[in-house]
Amino acid sequence: MTKKEYVFAFEQGDGENKKLLGGKGANLCQMTQIGLPVPPGFVISTEACLAYLNQKKEGLAPDLMNQIREAMAQLEEKNRKGFGDANNPLLVSVRSGAAISMPGMMDTILNLGLNNETVKGLIKQTGNERFVYDAYRRLIQLFGSVGLGINTDSFDSIFEDIKRKHKAKDDVSLDAAALAEICDLFLGLEKKETGRPFPQDPYVQLELAVEAVFRSWMGKRAQDYRKEFDISPDMANGTAVNICTMVFGNMGDDSATGVAFTRDPGSGENRLYGEYLINAQGEDVVAGIRTPRPIRALRRQMPEIYKELENLRHTLEDYYREVQDFEFTIEKGKLYCLQTRNAKMNASAFIKTSIDMVNEGLVSEQEAILRIQPDMLAQMLHPRLDPNAKEKILAQGLPASPGAASGKVVFDADRAETKAKLGEKVILVREETKPEDIHGFFAAQGILTSRGGKTSHAAVVARSMGKPCVSGCEAIEINNLTREAIISGKSFREGDLVTIDGSTGNIYAGEVATIEPEFVEDLLVLLEWADDISELKVKANADTPEAAAKSKKYGAVGIGLCRTERMFNQPKRLPIVQEMILADTVKERKAALDRLLPFQRADFKEIFKIMGGMPVTIRLLDPPIHEFLPSAEELVDEINHLRELRKTVEGMADLPPILKLLDPELHDKYTTHLEMITRGLEELKSKHLDEPLIEAREIMLRKVRALSEINPMLGHRGVRLGITYPEIYTMQIQAILEAAAEHLKEGGQVRPEIMVPQVCTLEELKWVHGYVARIHREVEKRFNIKVPFKFGTMIEVVRACMRAGRLAELAEFFSFGTNDLTQATFSFSREDAENKFLPLYKDHGILQHNPFEVLDIKGVGRLMMITNEWARKTRPTIEIGICGEQGGHPDAIRFCHHIQMSYVSCSPLRVPIARLAAAHAKLKEKDYSLV
Ligand code: PEP
Ligand code: MG
Repeated sequence: MTKKEYVFAFEQGDGENKKLLGGKGANLCQMTQIGLPVPPGFVISTEACLAYLNQKKEGLAPDLMNQIREAMAQLEEKNRKGFGDANNPLLVSVRSGAAISMPGMMDTILNLGLNNETVKGLIKQTGNERFVYDAYRRLIQLFGSVGLGINTDSFDSIFEDIKRKHKAKDDVSLDAAALAEICDLFLGLEKKETGRPFPQDPYVQLELAVEAVFRSWMGKRAQDYRKEFDISPDMANGTAVNICTMVFGNMGDDSATGVAFTRDPGSGENRLYGEYLINAQGEDVVAGIRTPRPIRALRRQMPEIYKELENLRHTLEDYYREVQDFEFTIEKGKLYCLQTRNAKMNASAFIKTSIDMVNEGLVSEQEAILRIQPDMLAQMLHPRLDPNAKEKILAQGLPASPGAASGKVVFDADRAETKAKLGEKVILVREETKPEDIHGFFAAQGILTSRGGKTSHAAVVARSMGKPCVSGCEAIEINNLTREAIISGKSFREGDLVTIDGSTGNIYAGEVATIEPEFVEDLLVLLEWADDISELKVKANADTPEAAAKSKKYGAVGIGLCRTERMFNQPKRLPIVQEMILADTVKERKAALDRLLPFQRADFKEIFKIMGGMPVTIRLLDPPIHEFLPSAEELVDEINHLRELRKTVEGMADLPPILKLLDPELHDKYTTHLEMITRGLEELKSKHLDEPLIEAREIMLRKVRALSEINPMLGHRGVRLGITYPEIYTMQIQAILEAAAEHLKEGGQVRPEIMVPQVCTLEELKWVHGYVARIHREVEKRFNIKVPFKFGTMIEVVRACMRAGRLAELAEFFSFGTNDLTQATFSFSREDAENKFLPLYKDHGILQHNPFEVLDIKGVGRLMMITNEWARKTRPTIEIGICGEQGGHPDAIRFCHHIQMSYVSCSPLRVPIARLAAAHAKLKEKDYSLV
C-alpha cells in the first residue's frame, strides 16, 4: 500500500486544491511557484487534520510525524540552519488555514525552535539580545495559551507588571533584560499551571503545536463561526497547518511588519492600502497593541521597499484577478510576503472594483458579476447603522425586515400618524400589529413588536414596504394603559428615542447614527450586465403605486404579485370594507363594494401607468375576511368600556342639581363651567355612547364570532370566498378591467393578469373565469376598446400541484405561492413553527434551514418540478413564476433557473439581489445538481 501523502512543500503543493491545503496553504504554494518572496515552508493537509481528529488519542501518528521530520530536514537545507541547532537555529511559525477563510477563529504559534540553548546561539548570531528575548517571550506565551490552554490574561498581567516596574510606556521601550525577566516569569507560570516545564525539544514543541492547531478546528470559537456563516463540511472540512520559516519584522529599525490590500477595501479605489509597524511582529498589527502607520508613510521611510510592495500588489492582482489582502514582513531591508487571500470588502467597494477591473481588462464582465455575492447588495439598499457607532445593545428580537431606523417610541398607529404629520420620526412599538395599523406603518420609520415571528403581520408588511422591523422581542413588556414599555428593565415612555436594526434584530436606547442607502451608478451598470446574461426574469411583489414605482426603479420587469387586500387596509377604506363584511344582504354588500370600486380602480390605473405596459399580476382577495375586523376580545373590552363610560356620564349629569342643593354658593361660582361640562358630556353621549351605537358594536361582535374559524389559514379564504361572495370578486375584476380600459383610452399600454388564490380544482377556476369573461365583455363594450388580459392561478395548495395538467387548460400562467405551499407541504403552521419548534429543529440539524425563508428544494421544490412538467404537457408555453417570500433568495433563484421557470417575484428591495442571483444562476448552471 502506498503511504498517504500528508505534507506538501510550498514548491510542490497544488495551489488550486484549497480543500486539501486550506486557502492560506494553497496561496503560499502558488505565491512560491510564481516567484514571490515567500519564506520556505510546507503545508500539512486537512486530511491529516481529519485523521488526527478521528484517531481520538493524543500525539501525531508516527507516519505523519515522519513526513513532518522529512519536510523539516528539507527546510533546514533550504535555510542552511538547523531546527534546534544551538549555534545556527531555524525558527518556524505554525499557522492554521481552512478551505474557507475564518479570520481569527483558529490558532497560530510563532518562533518555534527557540529554547534556553538556541536563544543563546541566536543572540550570538544576531548580536541582538533584545530581539531574541522578545521572540522567546512570544513563543512561550503563544505556546502556553494555544498549545497548553493557559489563560492569556495570566501572561498579560505579568507583562504589564514588568512594564510598570520599568516605567515602560510600550513594548518597544522594554530592554533585553526586562524581556529576559519576562521569559523567566512566563516559564515559571507555565510550569506552575501545567506541572511540566516548557518543552525544550523543538520537535516536541512542533508536535504539540500542530496538534493544538488541529484541535482548534473543533474549538467552540471555530464551531460557532461555521454555524453562523453556514460553512458546511463540503465547503471546508478540517484545517491545514502551515509551517513556515520565521522572518522577523522586529530586528530593528530596518525591519517592519504590515498588512496591505491591493485596493482600498472601504472605497474600492485602485491604490495600495494598508498599514505597518516598524520593529514589530505581525501579531502586533492585528492585536492593535501599537498604532500602526498608514502605508503611504513607508514611501518616505523605505522608498525601495515601497516600490517592491507596489510591484507585489500588481503581481498578486494579475495572478489572482481579485483584490488581495496580504501580510508582509521586512527583515533587515528585505521584503517577504507571508500570506495572501481574497479581500473582504463592503458591497460598494466590491461593485466599484468589479467595474474598474473590467475596464482595466483584468476580468471579464461575467467574472466581475460572479465575484459579488447577491445578498451583499442588501447592504446598499437599506439604511444601516453606522459601523463606527459604538452603542450598547439593549435587547434583541428577530431580524424581521432589514435596515436600521431611529425614532420616538409611539404605542399606536394613530399617534404614529399624528406625530409623523408634525414631522417627527417615530418607531411604532406594539405587542403585535393588525391590518388596521397600516397607517402607522406608513408613518413610522420602523416597527418593533414584542410578539410574532419573521412572518408575522408586522414583519411581512414592513418587508413589503422596505421598512425596518424587529419582531418577537420578548425582552419588551408593553403597558398600553400607561403608555410605557419596559425593554430589558429600562423604561420607555412615548417620545423616548429608540433605534432598531432589522438586519440583526438588535435594539438600542437613544439614537444611533445610520448611513443612507445609495443606488450608485456602478451598481446600475453591473445589474445591466447581469440582465444581459440571465434567462430568469425578475418581477416584484408590489401592492401600492409607491411600491410599484420602487420596483421599477430597482429594475423589475413587471409586478408578479399585487395583493389587493392591502389596498383595503387604508384608514378611509377599512370602514367600508367592514360595512361590506357586516352586510346582512347581498344588496347591502354590493352597496359597500360600489364605494370600494373607485378606490381599487384608481390604484390599479396608477400602477398600470407607473409600470408602463409591463405585466401586472393582480391577485383577487385572499385572506379570511374576519382579518379586517377587530378581534372578539377587543370588541368585548370596548363594549364594556363604553357602557361604563355611559354610566359615568349619566352620573355626571346629576352633578349640577346636587351641587345646588348642597352648596348653592359653590354652584353659582361654577355655573358656567358646569353648564359647559354638562353640554360636552351630552354631546359625547349622543355621538359615541348612544345605545344604538353600542349595539352596533355588539352586532359587530356577533358577526366576528360567527366568522371566527378554527383554522382560518385553511378555512374560508381565497377562491372559496370569491365563490361564496361572488360580488367581492366581480367588483375587483371590474376595477381591474375598467382601470385597464381607461388607461388604454388615454393612450397608455397595459398588460393586466388576473390571478386567483388558493385554487385546488379546475372547477373553481372555471367558476371565476365565468365572472371574468362576462365582465370583460361588458367592459370592452362599454369602453368600446379591446382590453388584453391574462387569466391564471396561484399554486399554493398541494392538490393544485397534483392537478396542474388540468388547471393549465384554463390558466395561462401559474405563480407558486411558496409561503402557503410550504405550510401545506410540511403541514406546519408558519407562525407556530417559527415561534415554537423550528429554532430547535435547526439547532439539532433536523432541518438545515427555516423552509419559510429558504425554499425547501427537496420537498416543495420537487412538487414544483412535477407541477411544471404536467402543466407544460397541457400548455407548453405556460408562464410559470414564484411569488412566495423564498423567491428572492439566491438558492431558490438558482433552482428556479434550473427548472426553467419564467420569473421570480420578490419584494422591491430584493429585486437587485434577485437580478444578480439570476445571472449567477445562468453562469453557474453547469455545476448545479439536485441532491
Ligand atoms: C404565498 O402563499 O406564497 C403567497 C405569495 O401568498 P400570501 O403570502 O399572501 O399568502
Ligand atoms: Mg398564499
